[in-house]
Amino acid sequence: MINMDVKTNLQQIQSSIEQACKKVNRNTDEITLIAVTKYVTIERTEETINAGIINLGENRQEGFLEKYNYIQNEEAKWHFIGTLQTRKVKDVINKVDAIHSLDRMSLAKEINKRTSEPMDCFVQVNVSGEETKHGLFPDKVLPFIEGLANFNNIRVVGLMTMAPEIDDEQLLRDVFKKLANLRDTVQEKKFTHAPCKYLSMGMSNDYQLAIEEGATHIRIGSKLVGSE
Ligand SMILES: *Cc1c(COP(=O)(O)O)cnc(C)c1O
Repeated sequence: MINMDVKTNLQQIQSSIEQACKKVNRNTDEITLIAVTKYVTIERTEETINAGIINLGENRQEGFLEKYNYIQNEEAKWHFIGTLQTRKVKDVINKVDAIHSLDRMSLAKEINKRTSEPMDCFVQVNVSGEETKHGLFPDKVLPFIEGLANFNNIRVVGLMTMAPEIDDEQLLRDVFKKLANLRDTVQEKKFTHAPCKYLSMGMSNDYQLAIEEGATHIRIGSKLVGSE
């Protein structure tokens, strides 16, 4: 896997995306593929961009900045997908296109203060309730989003979750379904600051299921670019 070129992996993934979309009558245009480059080198990241993938995901400030500064590609869109420390917001904020890990008010405050234009954010949800996972518990999501109404520079574009590392298809589907239902609940409120259209869910091992359950943004690392 890790020795295969990105193009070959991409073809495989694209055909799986098509299959999953077909199963549930969705259009592949609805799916944004984010290549998670957190495990790989700058060279491999450049190969990824050359393979035609412009959406890239990083989970740590250091790894992100190193690649961002070196690559300097105007086409590339960077997604911050990991825990973001409040004091590091200023270092990344005007360089990323979206933050997938908004999970607390102090972080929202800092993003709102530091950005020069409204920032697209996904609220991270801990659907499965695992202790080790980041994100808000489902029942806290709506009040949290309501509380963001006064932050002019935060746009809640969607919800994000990480499913547990299990093979049980039904349990995975349940997690994805719950996030989709929660998204619908937020959307129905028609908040101007929270259109909440998108679902960032699905990784290497579960992205087809996530697509079947409504994912709009899938984040794939190991199966696309490799894991070291
Ligand atoms: C690492 C990571 C991914 C990609 O994981 P793979 O299983 O390698 O595809 C996706 N999302 C987040 C938040 C991650 O940290």
